[in-house]
Amino acid sequence: MTHPPVPLGTFPTPLEPAPRLAAALGLGPEDLWVKRDDLTGLGGGGNKIRKLEWTVGAALAEGADTLVTTGAAQSNHARLTAAAAARLGLDVVLVLRGAPGASRSGNLALDGLFGARLAWAGEVDQTGLDAAAAEVCARLRAEGRRPALIPFGGSGTLGARGYARCGEELRAQLPGLRTAVVALGSGGTMAGLVAALGTGSVLGVDVGALADPAAAVVAFAAPLTSKEVTAERLRVRRDQVGAGYAALTVPVAEALRLAARTEGIVLDPTYTGRALAGLAAAVRDGDVRPGEKTVFVHTGGLPGLFGHPAAVTAAEEGAGAY
Ligand SMILES: *Cc1c(COP(=O)(O)O)cnc(C)c1O
Repeated sequence: MTHPPVPLGTFPTPLEPAPRLAAALGLGPEDLWVKRDDLTGLGGGGNKIRKLEWTVGAALAEGADTLVTTGAAQSNHARLTAAAAARLGLDVVLVLRGAPGASRSGNLALDGLFGARLAWAGEVDQTGLDAAAAEVCARLRAEGRRPALIPFGGSGTLGARGYARCGEELRAQLPGLRTAVVALGSGGTMAGLVAALGTGSVLGVDVGALADPAAAVVAFAAPLTSKEVTAERLRVRRDQVGAGYAALTVPVAEALRLAARTEGIVLDPTYTGRALAGLAAAVRDGDVRPGEKTVFVHTGGLPGLFGHPAAVTAAEEGAGAY
């Protein structure tokens, strides 16, 4: 059964023209817009808010008093789950990959500010992370708490409903939209956009979080639409992963500089920087063309920039002496 979403964010988010970025990419100045899903409001903003409205809505309907979720140390989803818990008066435990390091910058600082408790799972794969989260839930239940497990990245068919709504906003804001470009992590964001806009209108740029991201998008999107969603029909680029999920690549560092210097927009090194590097590559190889209406979906992630030492160094080096 699907429970109603709980309002957490500020919607609809703005759609802004990006003429200087468009020209720098080789598009016409009127071809490119930015969907400002970094401006969703709660907890520093970002795409996870739309998914949390649905997953936390279900948790509340089930009578949960504690939210539990999993992620990387610099997970934006974990940070926003903590913010949602604070907003709703719930407890929160974040089950994070890795070990507590010397530095708790970026998202980790905000996790602490929101009052989250952290459970470090060590260097485990997704199965290990899920097992650690199941253990945390069992312990909470033994303490008399009522935990609700929010899936990795908030992604699933339920969370994807939040992005179907974003797709509907885009259809209303930009009739004739040809391609919405978005980072593809755990898959729920692209899945919702595909459910609303169709497979041909969404270009996902894989960030390297999953072994088979297209399969996740198909699984989450198919129940939400009568249109056919298959892995073959999806537009997915896998050429921006580089050395792996959190590794900074040269095209991503360039994308961060380009968005900042043409439009005053800050991207992050893990998701949105990869998405823009993927859009630049798509323009170069003709998958996205001048004269088409293109939307860059800005999914947030700013705190992650400050939790990424190599990206901070690359940014600092951009300041010239005068
Ligand atoms: C999680 C995340 C994404 C990817 O969304 P998924 O639904 O996990 O694919 C994109 N951008 C940012 C900033 C994110 O935090």
